[in-house]
Amino acid sequence: MTRSKLTNDQVVHLRELACAGYSNKTLAEMFHLSQNSISSIALGRLYQNVGGPIREFFKKRSDDLREKDFWEKVEIQDESSCWLWKGKVGANGYGVFKFHSRPIGAHQVALIFSRGEYPKHGRVIRHSCNVKLCCNPGHLRYGTDAENSMDTLIANAGPTQKLSVEDVLNIRKLYRSGLFTHRQIAEKYMVSTSTISSALRGETFSFVPGPVRKKDLIHAGKHYRKAA
Ligand SMILES: [Zn+2]
Repeated sequence: MTRSKLTNDQVVHLRELACAGYSNKTLAEMFHLSQNSISSIALGRLYQNVGGPIREFFKKRSDDLREKDFWEKVEIQDESSCWLWKGKVGANGYGVFKFHSRPIGAHQVALIFSRGEYPKHGRVIRHSCNVKLCCNPGHLRYGTDAENSMDTLIANAGPTQKLSVEDVLNIRKLYRSGLFTHRQIAEKYMVSTSTISSALRGETFSFVPGPVRKKDLIHAGKHYRKAA
């Protein structure tokens, strides 16, 4: 097989163009080579002794830099809390981050960087905490558009947003102590008793560790009666 020989300058130039985003097909036409050869040169498998930026390394490095930029704009807390986005916010209420020169949702970028998961067609990212600015990967998962609308409906209809994750942790602790009733806790947090029950059982805030199970309830109830 005959391969047209490239000068060192041409190889460097080709690699620079590849890094700038020129496709193998375009480069193949420009340099009168097969797309396979272009790919091998761009990846550094051919002309190993010649310099120039290597496409894959370049991409990887730029992603790493972006990742550092990204997490600097996130208020990272403990595992269970919401990690709020501190950067730009779009009209839809979600955080915005420029990724490969395209602005996309900050929560989306959080999934890409934390799990290497790129959003697939028809899938949206759901917030289990219903906090649009939250970038805690543990609160994010893929779902359909319909499921996402349902999340929002539930969040808007229910009073769960009146409680923070910290509140819920405290509420569960208070209840376990056996010294407080649902009503007393509801009054303290100025929410309904049903909000407290749901948060205790983990029907809401299911992502917060330590929901109160049935056996805990009986135990806590007995304890309460003894204390009263
Ligand atoms: Zn969250």
